[in-house]
This record gives sequence, C-alpha cells and structure tokens, in this order.
Amino acid sequence: MQNHDSIAGGLAHYGVSWATHPIQREHDLSIRVGEFHRLKAVRPPLSRSEVMARVKGRDTRPELRVRRALHLAGLRYRLQARELTGRPDIVFRRARIAIFVHGCFWHRHSGCEHARMPKSRPEFWEPKLSANKERDERNRKQLEAEGWIVITIWECETRDSAALQEFVNRIQKLVRSQALLYSR
Ligand SMILES: [Zn+2]
Repeated sequence: MQNHDSIAGGLAHYGVSWATHPIQREHDLSIRVGEFHRLKAVRPPLSRSEVMARVKGRDTRPELRVRRALHLAGLRYRLQARELTGRPDIVFRRARIAIFVHGCFWHRHSGCEHARMPKSRPEFWEPKLSANKERDERNRKQLEAEGWIVITIWECETRDSAALQEFVNRIQKLVRSQALLYSR
C-alpha cells in the first residue's frame, strides 16, 4: 500500500492538501488579514479591537504571520484547540502536531533580547514570568504524554523571514512523516 497514490490518499486523509486548497479557510484568513491591515493603516498605537484581540489572545500579529506562512506552503491546520492542554495556537490534528506561537517577553525566550527582565519592580516580574515559563513546560510535557509533537515558534522568529521559512519547512516535513506513519 505504499505506492504514491496511497501516500497522497493518506495525506489527504490527514488533512494535508498539496494541490488545490479549500476556498473557505483561505477566504476566512484573508478577511482577517485585510481587517488587520485596515486597522494598522488607520489608527494610532492600539485600537480598541486590537487591544481586545490581545486580551483574548487571538489574531495577534506573530500568530497571523505563522498562519499565513503555513497556509502559503499549502498546509491546512486548525486554530486554537481549546480542549487541549495549554490551548495550542495552531494544531495539525491528525498528524498530532501542536504549535505554540510565543511572545518572547511573556514566555521568556531564553537568550533573546526581547526577553530581558524589566529593571523596575523585579519582585513583581520575576515570579510572574517564571510562572509562565513553568506553565509552558508543564503544558508541553502533558501534551507530549498524550502523544502530541509540541513545537514552539518565538515571536522574534516570526519576524525573521528566513527563520519563519525554516519553521515552515520543518512543519511540512513533520506533517508528511506523521501522515505516513499513521497511514500504515
Ligand atoms: Zn525571541
């Protein structure tokens, strides 16, 4: 059963489409991207809806960049799997890949210039940011125990087109190998 047809069939079965894409999802995405650009063009620093988006943790810029890059590579995913531990931002359900798009500051990207501890009120920030980091680690372990491959992309990487492309290539390979694995 390992001829090309069965592989393609397997990929399709696992929600991966390498040819034409479902219009629905691209349509949805482009509307959101369009809205975002409109907001960006019109307003001073933070519009109310953008603040709300940040509060709700949805459609923040780094996540949008990652979604667009994956989509352009022909990868089809689910957004925010609320029932999963830690609510991963992007999920390839059948391939069991969970992706977190993490802000460098809040999630303490180690060695990153954007993750420096604020100079004022360290007694406030230190435990708060450490707790975030520990929670991320717990979530990762829990998801891995449930059979998920957990991948984190950092905000600074989403701003670096080479790093973003590398990430997309990695995900593409992983999704392929997972689809083959599960189609056996
Ligand atoms: Zn970073």
